[in-house]
Amino acid sequence: MQLGRTQRLADDSAFNVLNKHCLDENGRISLPLDTVEVARRLGIGLEWDDDPNMSSERSGYSQLDSEGKPKIFVNPKQGRERMRFTVAHEIGHIYRAMCDGTIDQLVPHDRAELATQGTDDDEIYANTFAAELVMPEAIVRRWVEEAVPFTKLMARFGVSKSALTNRLNNLELA
Ligand SMILES: [Zn+2]
Repeated sequence: MQLGRTQRLADDSAFNVLNKHCLDENGRISLPLDTVEVARRLGIGLEWDDDPNMSSERSGYSQLDSEGKPKIFVNPKQGRERMRFTVAHEIGHIYRAMCDGTIDQLVPHDRAELATQGTDDDEIYANTFAAELVMPEAIVRRWVEEAVPFTKLMARFGVSKSALTNRLNNLELA
């Protein structure tokens, strides 16, 4: 698949975050990635939004808190795998705004199910970022080469079947 400019940017950004903020004491990325911890390390707040009116399709969004700091709101009514990806997606939105110096203009970004089909540039960025953060390309390629079974890959990355399927398709490894 030919990557567009937005996707290359998102890939590079996620790669940088992985190498700067996600390495353990042995210099390795510990998987499944704890995206809540990554948000914390980046100075991003996180709150479980258990508003009963929050629909189950709305998995998360981010906006500035009262002190002007970026904060991710996560719907706890979703599986652990989806939550991991949701937080990674929202980190993508915030990280892009931080890099662009536009964090003070951060508007609530919804991660609704529809957005995952994204044609919107910000959504493409956030989805690409999240995929690389949670399923780093080099590691996916290595494990696929080692013939690690699909269900084991799901467990190692802590992702849903559909997230892994998309990732393998996009890397033309399916
Ligand atoms: Zn989004």
